[in-house]
Amino acid sequence: VVVVGAGLSGLWAAHELRKRTNLSVLVLEGRERVGGRLESVNPGTADAFDLGGHWVGSNQYHILAALKELGKETYKQYTTGTKILDMDGRVRPYESSLPNLPLIQEANFALFALLAEHSLKAIPRDAPYNYSRAAHFDGMTLDSFCSAFPWMKETRELVVAATQTIFAKSPAELSALQFLHYAACAGGLNPLLDASPGGGQEFKVRGGTQAIPMAAAQGVDVRFNTTVVGIRAAGAGGEVVVQALDGRRFVARRVV
Ligand SMILES: Cc1cc2nc3c(=O)[nH]c(=O)nc-3n(C[C@H](O)[C@H](O)[C@H](O)COP(=O)(O)OP(=O)(O)OC[C@H]3O[C@@H](n4cnc5c(N)ncnc54)[C@H](O)[C@@H]3O)c2cc1C
Repeated sequence: VVVVGAGLSGLWAAHELRKRTNLSVLVLEGRERVGGRLESVNPGTADAFDLGGHWVGSNQYHILAALKELGKETYKQYTTGTKILDMDGRVRPYESSLPNLPLIQEANFALFALLAEHSLKAIPRDAPYNYSRAAHFDGMTLDSFCSAFPWMKETRELVVAATQTIFAKSPAELSALQFLHYAACAGGLNPLLDASPGGGQEFKVRGGTQAIPMAAAQGVDVRFNTTVVGIRAAGAGGEVVVQALDGRRFVARRVV
């Protein structure tokens, strides 16, 4: 089996295939490192600093099970004390887990939350595409979704800051369905944004998040600097030919 990409998805697929079958598995990775969007400075050490994915939450059972299996520990995100919200050219200190806003902005954000919570409750977590309005919400960005109600500049900036932190994208680059489904999986908007118990930012991974794919890659045959440019079925035997940018070809029974 050929797996394309040595990010967490590809490496976990390879890890599971090796664990559950006796198939031979080869991972092809375009870059010269594992991890994809999980990248840490000094991964695997006490000085690790995450550049990509940072947090895991107590209701994210799959990643928690993977961490346990790989012998990786988590620690609580430190949240005690004063935080700062740097928005709209002003720096505001706050003590609660989410920023306090002036009343009118709070009301405006509550309107956004009400609209979002109403929709996300109806989204099946395991099959968002089965939601009756899936095509409608997937056909618009989060930005368009938000423009359905009176949108204050500050509320918009707060949503931009939150989506950039959580999705590494601005609302104009994010499908409204993806946002709503992600929030549904987190248990609602507050748990999605929150670092307190039950929130999506509750724990960090000791040694940095890149240490997860590094551990999953142990014993897996990963070919670096191998960018896949084509995948095609070949012959009656059901083989698949995977074509790399530099001309190499890999023949497999299946491709992930
Ligand atoms: C700044 C930031 C913060 C984040 N914070 C969090 C967080 O706190 N919590 C959380 O759960 N998630 C977070 N995420 C998201 C999380 O990092 C990703 O969802 C996850 O790492 C994606 O893993 P993946 O394996 O699916 O994809 P990727 O990590 O993107 O891996 C894909 C891999 O495939 C390789 N590849 C792509 N195309 C080819 C090709 N043609 N040939 C060969 N190789 C190829 C890429 O080089 C890459 O290594 C964050 C992401 C970012 C960027």
